[in-house]
Amino acid sequence: MFADLHLHTLYSDGTWPPEELAARAAAAGLGAVALTDHDTVEGCREMAAASRARGLEFLAGTELTAEHEGREIHLLGYCMNPEDPTLLAAMRQFQAARQERIRRMVARLNELGLPLTADTVFELANCRSPGRPHVARALVQAGLCDSMDEAFERFLKQDRPAWAPKFRISTTEAIRLIHQAGGVAVMAHPGLTRADEAILPMAAAGLDGLECFHTKHTPATSRHYLQLAEERSLLVTGGSDCHGLNKGKPLVGSVRVPRERVEAVKARAAERKSSLLRG
Ligand code: AMP
Ligand code: FE
Ligand code: FE
Ligand code: ZN
Repeated sequence: MFADLHLHTLYSDGTWPPEELAARAAAAGLGAVALTDHDTVEGCREMAAASRARGLEFLAGTELTAEHEGREIHLLGYCMNPEDPTLLAAMRQFQAARQERIRRMVARLNELGLPLTADTVFELANCRSPGRPHVARALVQAGLCDSMDEAFERFLKQDRPAWAPKFRISTTEAIRLIHQAGGVAVMAHPGLTRADEAILPMAAAGLDGLECFHTKHTPATSRHYLQLAEERSLLVTGGSDCHGLNKGKPLVGSVRVPRERVEAVKARAAERKSSLLRG
C-alpha cells in the first residue's frame, strides 16, 4: 500500500473537486491519501466520503502558511480533529486575510491599468481560501495574460508589481495549533523552501516530521532530508503536491510513501490525542 500525503482540491487552489481527486488517486493505484488544502480543512468531509467510496484510506490534513524569521514555511497538519473550534477559528482568520490580500493585489493590477475586479477572482475561485493561482487564472480568462506562468512572472511573484504579502503565523504558533487539535505537524517541501536553519528551532517547538519526498525534490534533496529526519528523530512523509493537471499530467500518485510511513503519522496523532485527553 502506498500513500500520497500532499494533495489539493478546489477548496483551495487545486482544480479538481474531491470526487475527481479520489478517482484519480484510485486509478493511480494508491491505497491512502491525505488532503492538504491551503489554510482550510473544509474539503475533508467530502474527501473522506469520496475516498471511502473508492476504497482509499483517508487522512484529514491542511497546509498552513507560517513563517520563521521572515521566511515563508508551509506546515502540513495531519489527523487533526476537523471540528476543533480553535483550529476552525484560525482558519477563518487565514481565509479573511486571503480574501483581503486578493483585493490588495487586484487594486495593484488596476493601478497598472489591468481591468480586473476582485469579484471576478472570487467567483472564479469559488472557495473560502483563494490565492494567487486564482488571480492568475482570472488574468488568463480575461485575456490579460497568455498563461498562468506569465501572470506569475509579470505580476504575482514576490516583489513583482501586483504582489502583496500574505498573512502568516509563526511556525511555533502553527505547530501549537495543529497539536492542540490532536494533529501531527510536518514541514512541507523543505527542499523547495530552503530554510534548513528553521528546522532545529521547529524541532524544539515540537515539529513531528519532514516531507522528505516531494515532486520538486531531486533524489539528492530527498536523501539530505531523510538524513536530517533520522538525526532529529523526525517522521518522514511525502506527497506529490498535486493541484490538478500539471502540463497535461495528473501528479497524484507520482510521489508516494509506503504504509509504514502512514502508520507512523497515525500513531503519533493517536498518542497526541490521548495525551490531550489525559490533560
Ligand atoms: P499563494 O498561496 O496565494 O501565495 O499562492 C501560492 C500558490 O501558487 C502555490 O501553492 C502554488 O500552488 C501556486 N504557484 C506558485 N507559483 C506558480 C506559477 N508560476 N504558476 C502557477 N502556480 C504557481
Ligand atoms: Fe497551492
Ligand atoms: Fe506548499
Ligand atoms: Zn501544497
